[in-house]
Amino acid sequence: MHIVVGDYMPESDERVFCLQHGGKKQYYRYKCTLCGECCRHDYVIDIRMDDVARWKQQDREDIVRGFQIDMKSLAPAAVIPLGWYKVHPIDQGTTTEKGSQKSPEMAFLDEHREGVNELVRFIVDNHVRVSNGLKNEYLPHWFLPDTCYIAIFQPKSIVIMKQGILKGIRYILINNLRGQCEFLQANLCSIHDTKPIVCQEYPNKDHLENDVRAATKFIEVCKGVNPHN
Ligand code: SF4
Ligand code: SF4
Repeated sequence: MHIVVGDYMPESDERVFCLQHGGKKQYYRYKCTLCGECCRHDYVIDIRMDDVARWKQQDREDIVRGFQIDMKSLAPAAVIPLGWYKVHPIDQGTTTEKGSQKSPEMAFLDEHREGVNELVRFIVDNHVRVSNGLKNEYLPHWFLPDTCYIAIFQPKSIVIMKQGILKGIRYILINNLRGQCEFLQANLCSIHDTKPIVCQEYPNKDHLENDVRAATKFIEVCKGVNPHN
């Protein structure tokens, strides 16, 4: 599947785009109807440094409650450089002094214990632990105790978010259990005047054209998309 998204038409808030699938072309017309559907579909909205700088300048400490650490940004795949796995292959692990096998992740932790401990301290001291995630979760977090990938850590301030981003932590919007963004109220974005750049740019032309899953989800979710002949 391939999608080509047109720019907004002159003096209009409409776009036309073309979906090519198995040699067939389907044209669509898109115009936002402000239905709010995209804000209740569990999108992962990540926060950029420019967002944080803007909120700091606007003194918007009130909106920090809507953000959490993306636990995937602390996963081995995000933290450990790929070169490490060449030296410590997953299938072999590393042999300890006692002769037992150690996973590449544990070997990495041992070698970088000080830096990892500093990161853990930063997270624990500067975030509110709203939830550890479900017990018996299949994917326990690899270095934060008693947590899993769906644990919720809210930053305590905008400055903390800035420091966290510089440390490689990714922050995302919190969605409630129904997959709805915390800031959606009465179908409207309650922080519309300063919403995250990702929300301002949605639907992002480059993103849709380069990510088939994003394009498919957009067509499924967006109420402003209609087939066009
Ligand atoms: S911040 Fe606003 S625009 Fe972005 S997902 Fe939440 S409600 Fe929607
Ligand atoms: S789902 Fe589509 S039409 Fe509805 S608010 Fe989002 S972009 Fe606009």
